[in-house]
Amino acid sequence: METKIASPAGAWLALAKKLIETGEVVAFHTETVYGLGANAFSDEAVLKVFALKGRPADNPLIVHVHQDFPISSLIDGEPSYAAALREAFLPGPLTMVYPSKGKVSKYVSCGLDTLAVRVPSSPAAQAFLKSADLPVAAPSANLSKHVSPVTAKHVFDDFNGKIPLILDGGACTGGIESTVLDCTGEIPQILREGLVTREMIARVAGRCEVYRAKRGERPKSPGMAYKHYAPRCKTAYFTGDRLGEAEAAYLNEAEGGGAPCFLCESEVCARLEGYRSLDLGSSPEEAARRLYALLRRGEEQATLLIGVEPREKEGVMAGVLNRMRRAFGVEHGTEEG
Ligand code: AMP
Ligand code: MG
Repeated sequence: METKIASPAGAWLALAKKLIETGEVVAFHTETVYGLGANAFSDEAVLKVFALKGRPADNPLIVHVHQDFPISSLIDGEPSYAAALREAFLPGPLTMVYPSKGKVSKYVSCGLDTLAVRVPSSPAAQAFLKSADLPVAAPSANLSKHVSPVTAKHVFDDFNGKIPLILDGGACTGGIESTVLDCTGEIPQILREGLVTREMIARVAGRCEVYRAKRGERPKSPGMAYKHYAPRCKTAYFTGDRLGEAEAAYLNEAEGGGAPCFLCESEVCARLEGYRSLDLGSSPEEAARRLYALLRRGEEQATLLIGVEPREKEGVMAGVLNRMRRAFGVEHGTEEG
């Protein structure tokens, strides 16, 4: 199969619609990362997404809809704060988990009685979803465990020859996956941190918790239990106060004939003058936007990628840190402790 990369307009949108309607898979741009989309009503199409990615069968998918789609047709009631959250943050990088009416394929939610719904804001995503005009189940368009894609080229690198079409909307400006928010209880609960932060949600809903699975408990968001976002090279990870050890790891790799490289904030890059480094920038938003592209560049160019943890831990950086720790194997979720 030839994999075409095309702009989300004109005849390509018509082709995307036809592909989705006939049970094929289409990759598309969103403001967070690229998605690998399929008709959420079709068992066969949804299972194709799992098979293509090599995604574990108990890791549910998010359903994506355009901004005028009647989500009440998919969800079975909602708490009082949900409408205000939609008004404040949608379209945008916030996924809301509702009680499900069970209208979409049972494989979307992997047997859970809830449904995760997202309304992406990128014009490319809206054009695609409006054209398809049905709920599109879509995980990130990367092979399972690999780094999430933030350009059409990243998607192509993972799925060349395996999918018919990638709708290219340019580089993703958000850069990390959406915030996943459980809206089935009295208090909204963040299952996955992202660009819409706990503070932002609490300001609108009055309260907001961050869910942390207890040891041995099946996590509420099954995906968070898996090793994720891993670059395909050796990695090491140090907190900012252990820069000496990070330098020693770098020198050791270089002495052995390898090609080490740091991944760190601008300020740390500047302190590591003379060493090779990939620059996460100097704000949480910049770090979010750059992280995945740099992890992919790191795996191509380095034999050992050495992450240095940013100092800031709150707000948007909480989401970045979650992805960074998991990419570097420091935090695999509850499954591996
Ligand atoms: P991905 O699409 O690869 O970014 O992953 C989707 C994330 O949303 C995973 O962490 C899933 O566990 C989570 N998710 C999807 N549907 C649900 C749901 N019904 N309840 C809780 N988490 C969900
Ligand atoms: Mg993913």
